[in-house]
Amino acid sequence: MDMYDVAVVGAGPVGGYLARRLNEHGHSVLLIEEHPEIGRPFQCAGLVNPKAMEMVGLETSVLTSIWGANIHSPLGNPVSIGNPSRIRTFSVCRKIFDEGVVAQAIRTGTDLALSSKVVAAEVYDEYVEIDIETNEGLRHAKCKLLCGADGAHSWVRRHFKMGRPKEMMIGFQIEVTGYDGDEGMLDMYTGSSIAPGFFSWAIPSGSTTRIGTWTVAKRMDGRSSEDYLNYLLSNRLLNSRFHNCTEIGRYCGPVPSGIVSKIALPRVVLLGDAAGVCKPTTGGGIGPGFEQVELVVPMISGYITSNALGGRQMKRVNSIMNDMRRKQRRKKALRDAFLTEMSDDELEGIFSVWARPDVTELINEVGEIENPIPLGIAMLKEVPEFRRLASRAAKAILWG
Ligand SMILES: Cc1cc2nc3c(=O)[nH]c(=O)nc-3n(C[C@H](O)[C@H](O)[C@H](O)COP(=O)(O)OP(=O)(O)OC[C@H]3O[C@@H](n4cnc5c(N)ncnc54)[C@H](O)[C@@H]3O)c2cc1C
Repeated sequence: MDMYDVAVVGAGPVGGYLARRLNEHGHSVLLIEEHPEIGRPFQCAGLVNPKAMEMVGLETSVLTSIWGANIHSPLGNPVSIGNPSRIRTFSVCRKIFDEGVVAQAIRTGTDLALSSKVVAAEVYDEYVEIDIETNEGLRHAKCKLLCGADGAHSWVRRHFKMGRPKEMMIGFQIEVTGYDGDEGMLDMYTGSSIAPGFFSWAIPSGSTTRIGTWTVAKRMDGRSSEDYLNYLLSNRLLNSRFHNCTEIGRYCGPVPSGIVSKIALPRVVLLGDAAGVCKPTTGGGIGPGFEQVELVVPMISGYITSNALGGRQMKRVNSIMNDMRRKQRRKKALRDAFLTEMSDDELEGIFSVWARPDVTELINEVGEIENPIPLGIAMLKEVPEFRRLASRAAKAILWG
């Protein structure tokens, strides 16, 4: 039986990055992926923020650098933000990005097992034993620590009954040619007929554009994500941009947000989508997943070295996530106050204020897609029209 310090289930971006960082802390790692190749299939709009990009240095995967956004009100009135001199995010090829992350792990010493699915795991006092289904039959391995980086429907999370992310959004996306967008800018579309409580997007990705929508099941009123996307494509207020689009691919998947109450049990830790770390404001999971790895690895590394991975230690691993949990709750509260809980009429009113030059300037100055809290607070303080929202937002931020 193979013995490793750590077995990481799932060779997505978070599993790959985790494996590399564990190697760099001196630990042996087995990275287990059920699919025969890395980066396929994927469900992603492919946005990677500059901080996450810096952690892996995979600029070769960038298809388009994005500096701005046109945000469209429910009636199609756009507000344009951003400045070409400041890149806000990168649109990447997820296949090249994921392969790059996993290749870095292999270079630092990780053993990668493809076409290998973890189907059983048992925790003992000194180690964890796992069964892995492969094309050659069942393989067994032992590790000190089992990490679940196995995505939104995490097998590890379900097997060890570690709870569920608080919110499971549904993302649906098509890839098209022929979209009439502005260079270096993404489009965001709002309105209950397009993405109730959330938004739709059109993201330039090299020679194609990714057009998608996300929302939660309870707001969908019996319609499917495809119905909402079709409505966006045929909306007469917006559709000049979609006239010449030809679909070349489609993707659908969950976006788990709301960090599970216990990310760690004796000898088991969840990371990335498995732990529910996606951003409630954008649905992005790669940046927060990398951030979680950076937070957790230094602590678990010490415990792995001493093979002390019991209840007391894992309680500490759980607590180290509290700050991230609090920030995620605040972002969700702001999103709810400014977007999710608004009627289309209220949103239209907000857009008319956002379109004012002084407010657009404020958005450009303080706005950060990654951290909307400073902008939200500045707007509540400095824009008189938003003050009526202040108590709703403040309560949500403080107590949410
Ligand atoms: C439509 C849509 C658009 C999105 N857009 C963005 C975006 O623009 N930017 C962004 O940052 N995020 C985006 N996300 C979210 C992003 O895709 C995820 O947050 C990200 O992929 C999470 O990475 P991960 O490594 O945690 O999980 P995953 O990428 O899901 O990787 C998990 C891996 O585990 C493997 N696995 C699962 N179970 C087992 C098992 N039992 N044994 C072995 N292997 C297993 C899977 O095959 C998979 O390869 C989007 C999501 C959706 C649905």
